[in-house]
Amino acid sequence: MEYLSVTDAQKCILESVNTLDAETARLEQSLGRVLAEEVCANRDQPPYDISAMDGYALRSADLASVPATLEIIEDIKAGDMPSKTLAAGQCARIMTGAPMPQGADAVIRVEDTQAVSAEALSPNSDETTSHSTKPASGQVAGYLPQAGERDLVSLRENLFGRVQINQTVKPGNDIRRFGESMFNGEVVLTHGTEITPGVIGVLATVKRAQVQVHRRPSVAILSTGNELEGLDEPFDPNKIPDANSYALMAQTRALGIEPVLLGIARDDPDELASYLKRGLEYDVLLVSGGTSVGVHDYVRPTIEALGAQMLFWRVAMKPGHPVAFGKVGEKIIFGLPGNPVSSMVCFEEFVAPALRRMMGHARIYRRTIEARLTHDVKHQAGRTEFIRVMLAKEQDGYAATSTGAQGSGMLLSMAKADGLAVLPANSAGLVAGSTVTVQLLDGTVFQDDAGFRE
Ligand code: AMP
Ligand code: MG
Repeated sequence: MEYLSVTDAQKCILESVNTLDAETARLEQSLGRVLAEEVCANRDQPPYDISAMDGYALRSADLASVPATLEIIEDIKAGDMPSKTLAAGQCARIMTGAPMPQGADAVIRVEDTQAVSAEALSPNSDETTSHSTKPASGQVAGYLPQAGERDLVSLRENLFGRVQINQTVKPGNDIRRFGESMFNGEVVLTHGTEITPGVIGVLATVKRAQVQVHRRPSVAILSTGNELEGLDEPFDPNKIPDANSYALMAQTRALGIEPVLLGIARDDPDELASYLKRGLEYDVLLVSGGTSVGVHDYVRPTIEALGAQMLFWRVAMKPGHPVAFGKVGEKIIFGLPGNPVSSMVCFEEFVAPALRRMMGHARIYRRTIEARLTHDVKHQAGRTEFIRVMLAKEQDGYAATSTGAQGSGMLLSMAKADGLAVLPANSAGLVAGSTVTVQLLDGTVFQDDAGFRE
């Protein structure tokens, strides 16, 4: 069989996997899942015109000449219903989220007003509209509180007094309109929406305590190799610690799936077969090691003997070329390379997109950015190469620097990496200063396409 390109291998995988069916999830448990239904608003939001600020609801026409002093006739808190209609020269104190009173057409925020204490008004004056009470500079007319202090006074003491307004406002100022967020019956979230914290907020707003989401695949992870030492086994200097089970588990978890570790199978066809059979009870089986062409690499023939249809087992990439992919009915199997970096890179390129597609995500590939290489990179043409890099923010973009020795067994190169710089198969290497595409390894943000050239 020919070596497939990374892109063709990804295509082959995606043609073989389907989005899983729907199940019910509690809203609190649905973060990171994908909606398997359309969600409509069950109310008008806001249910009436409300104030967007703490301030005064007023008639904008009363501020034709400012400063103006208005009479406060009501105090409307969020949750109250206004009981009065504003006449000329009147306003209502209003809090953010409280309904607008009849007659008002604008809100002015409290910061743009000035409390007027009782003493500030002449005892004989019953004038309330468009009347300047601004004192001459330096002159103390009654008590004119300063910024900060002013808000407190206006909130606590001047409950039904008067307020001086120094600024005009346009009709509609600082009003949140009836239904501006959503109208009853309106589709607010479509099928396929990824459930982010913002989406959770919308779902809570429309009172969806339970939602329909796509099922997550069940994933089993199996390591293979006589030389492997389990995490809880006694230390043996002649053995190789099983890193893959745990690194792959973490990569799977990072996608929101809790995998099952099957353990370590020895390089023995019968033992391998019994582990693989158990693994095929899951939607997805990840087997690492034993997929190469060594005489003791039994994974491929054993999987095939169990009825798997192998769709590919070699990809033109570095690291990671001995990667296999097969199907048994609706179940899929990845034979990942034993080298820990290779198996992790293959997970990113092949397993993650497959798992995300099964979960119903439209965005299945790691997000890519363009970065400036800080050093030359050698490359042997013919294979797409994934170089582990650290990223640093620069004035106009990012700089990418290799994490060091890039051997496919050197996990520290992966541990330090922010991303994978992708060198196209046909490139003859890159010089310092060239632009390179980098797949970001962290985070929950994905994109529609792989985003790199091969
Ligand atoms: P293989 O693909 O089985 O030929 O293994 C390639 C290399 O990866 C060998 O050096 C193995 O010892 C090593 N290796 C295989 N599986 C693991 C694992 N689970 N953890 C760490 N290293 C492994
Ligand atoms: Mg092996």
